[in-house]
Amino acid sequence: VIIAMIYDHPRWEEKHMIKLIEELGHEVLHVPLRSSTLELSNLKKIADVAIQRAISSVRAITSTAFFEASGTPVVNNLNTQIICDNKVLTDLVLEKHGIPRPKTFVAYSMEEAMKIPEKLGFPLVIKPIQGSWGRLQALVSDEEALRGILEYREAMPSPQFKVHYMQEYIKKPQRDIRVFVVGDRVPVAIYRISQNWRTNTALGGRAEKAELNAELEEIALKAAKAVGGGVLGVDVVEDPERGYLVIEVNSNVDFKNTYRVTGHDLGKDIVEYAIEIAKR
Ligand code: ADP
Ligand code: ZN
Ligand code: MG
Repeated sequence: VIIAMIYDHPRWEEKHMIKLIEELGHEVLHVPLRSSTLELSNLKKIADVAIQRAISSVRAITSTAFFEASGTPVVNNLNTQIICDNKVLTDLVLEKHGIPRPKTFVAYSMEEAMKIPEKLGFPLVIKPIQGSWGRLQALVSDEEALRGILEYREAMPSPQFKVHYMQEYIKKPQRDIRVFVVGDRVPVAIYRISQNWRTNTALGGRAEKAELNAELEEIALKAAKAVGGGVLGVDVVEDPERGYLVIEVNSNVDFKNTYRVTGHDLGKDIVEYAIEIAKR
């Protein structure tokens, strides 16, 4: 089997998967996007399956489209990547599939956004609709703080910041749960524990093994299916009254910390899943 590894800059995860593929006796086709040119006017199948690992979402989505058009299935598929890249699109498919989520609003002007606290109260959470690692998200405690944040957002050149995505704050314990899904399996989950309201490990959240249970597995599988399936990281928070709520679904997952604290090798799961898809 020829497996294309598509990446921006190889991190531990990519190097680890490349090693595993070679150990299994398969061939790796390296696609380092920053030093690759894709000819759109010449579509030829050059691999049996591709694993998409680019961090830049625009590079990931366009290069995935190229491989899919050339006849190579990609982990994850283009549709899944497009949905997961955007929190509005993700929320809507989760909602349609009846997956419990926090109350969320989107407003397209400062004036409209200033009315949302009437529905959500304070504190509330404001996030960019694209991006990761908790970047540029704020926990807003009052109207004056909200006005200031909205003014900054309105002054940003990128139109995406003028889409004001606001969500009820969930009084979770000082952790959230990252549940990993590979195809129709839930191999492992971790808590991300933090004093910060954003528990992302990129912001100092501490990873710890989380025990799975039937309810958590079911919710993660449903969320993964809703976004189009594949290899996914489902972010779950525990609401004191409502129980598990899905915050978002990630299409390109880091797993170095998960390997360190659980000993479970998600890289192996991903490679095996890709080989299975290549053979379909
Ligand atoms: P990102 O794509 O940047 O990871 P998330 O929506 O997963 O964005 O939010 C980052 C973190 O912030 C979550 O892991 C969670 O700990 C916290 N968080 C996000 N939304 C809420 C919320 N509505 N209530 C409580 N905590 C939240
Ligand atoms: Zn995310
Ligand atoms: Mg997240």
